[in-house]
Amino acid sequence: MIVKQIWTGNDYRNFNYLIACPETGEALAVDPLDHVKCLSAAKDAGWDITQVLNTHEHGDHIGGNRQVIAATGAKLLAHENAKGKIPDIDRGLGAGDVIRVGKTVELESLDTPGHTMSHVCLRARTDTPALFCGDTLFNAGAGNCHGGGHPEDLYNTFASQLAGLPDETLIYPGHDYIANNLEFTLDREPDNARAPELLKEVADQDPAAALVSTLALEKEINTFFRLHSPSVIARLREAFPDLPDAPDEKTVFVKLRELRNSW
Ligand SMILES: [Zn+2]
Ligand SMILES: [Zn+2]
Repeated sequence: MIVKQIWTGNDYRNFNYLIACPETGEALAVDPLDHVKCLSAAKDAGWDITQVLNTHEHGDHIGGNRQVIAATGAKLLAHENAKGKIPDIDRGLGAGDVIRVGKTVELESLDTPGHTMSHVCLRARTDTPALFCGDTLFNAGAGNCHGGGHPEDLYNTFASQLAGLPDETLIYPGHDYIANNLEFTLDREPDNARAPELLKEVADQDPAAALVSTLALEKEINTFFRLHSPSVIARLREAFPDLPDAPDEKTVFVKLRELRNSW
């Protein structure tokens, strides 16, 4: 499996992806908003885009579908419940569905509600474990829920699906928010051991050659995976004095998400 992360350079800081089979040159485009860059990257590599996949229905993820499909004849894949929200879906996806790209790439569709209620993540089942997570999980952060989602569902997705993936899973999110999110981590957990050095590393990075994190790294620096950290809980209590002594994970997650909305 070859992954090309494409930096759009737009105001929303979107990442688009091409996932290609090295044997056949067939490729799947994930959320190819910047259709010009996606099509030219495929052409440069000698790949044929045969499928387009939308992680969810927001305009900054589906806005390049028409142009990419017109140029390539690719089939469009998205969550089965996104029909009616995303035009012209050819294949609706449910949990556990397998998407094949060429001969060597197998991606599993995960049903991951929270950011929206018809959001899929892709888990690569080939050589290197990898997760294409749209606006569900970001580097050092989690998606917001004000465009049709619910924080309780986002928590359930994190706890029951993402947290259990292998530590070495590479994380490919839908946006570059890492520096800002690390600032939030440090605001919520000032004694976080890893975030300060990582922030220095990524503060001036070129998003076109962005650091690709792993799930193990996220568990160190992503507040939304650090729901038992005593300093996260102590800081949260300053904002929510009624927080119980040993709050459950879901309460901590939902309150962190609430603070992040106005941070
Ligand atoms: Zn979104
Ligand atoms: Zn987005």
